[in-house]
Amino acid sequence: MATPPSSEDCGGLDSDLDWRINVVFPLRSPAPPSPRDITSASPTSTIRGLEGAYRNCRSRGLRLSRQRRLVLEILWRTGGHLSARDIFEQLNADGRRIGHTSVYQNLESLHENGVIECLDRAGGRLYGHRTDPHSHLTCLESGAISDIDIQLPPELLREIERATGFEIESYSLQLQGRPRSALA
Ligand SMILES: [Zn+2]
Repeated sequence: MATPPSSEDCGGLDSDLDWRINVVFPLRSPAPPSPRDITSASPTSTIRGLEGAYRNCRSRGLRLSRQRRLVLEILWRTGGHLSARDIFEQLNADGRRIGHTSVYQNLESLHENGVIECLDRAGGRLYGHRTDPHSHLTCLESGAISDIDIQLPPELLREIERATGFEIESYSLQLQGRPRSALA
């Protein structure tokens, strides 16, 4: 018989905190809140990831047009969550001639084929390069969204499974916060 978690249990988690958090890409805000928690993507890992995305496209029968490569390249290079307009503007600033509609259509087909992720936010759709389960941290100062990998303690997952009667296969947390430096 499952027992609901008591407030004491929650307090217990705090003292026995074993959550593994890893920010995979740098925050887009000019002043990242906590550099020690952030691992920048090395150029090598970006290229490897991009190659993986190209392979992903090929295996799904998606033609790797110039536009599609450019869109993927921007997403992997920035590591952020960008709108179609952000990407369009970035490409044009780089001197790449590509229409806004083409950017949007490419993003949508990449998303539909599971090559990139898409977040529906109040301000519109944002696209990111990762498709594996991961969590998001939104900066309440700048609005920048970072991908973070969080591993919840197994005992918490078991507790949730007991309480819901579900077997948890994956999870994604939406976290919001402000850089500590902005609060000081
Ligand atoms: Zn993401």
